[in-house]
Amino acid sequence: MNPKVAVNGSKRERLMDSAMIGKIEKAKRYAEEPERVRITAMTVMFRGEHGTYQVTYDHGQWQCGCRFFAQRKVCSHTMALERMFGDQLAGPSEPAQESQR
Ligand SMILES: [Zn+2]
Repeated sequence: MNPKVAVNGSKRERLMDSAMIGKIEKAKRYAEEPERVRITAMTVMFRGEHGTYQVTYDHGQWQCGCRFFAQRKVCSHTMALERMFGDQLAGPSEPAQESQR
């Protein structure tokens, strides 16, 4: 598809549309390469079999609201999330800064 003829409108609108099409194509490629993404922190609501718990991750540190985690500092919820996102989780020493251009 030629982006130049994809949309009718002013020249400026066509240029903007062509730029957006390029970004969408890049996003599709990026989405196939999850190793580009490092998760430094996240908060999720985890629906377990016995209840829903808030689980947070911050530079290597897990927290979960379930009772098992309070006793053992690890639980089925944090372990499941490690299996889901393990390769992308940033460790405690990884900088949270953007690299300089
Ligand atoms: Zn838990």
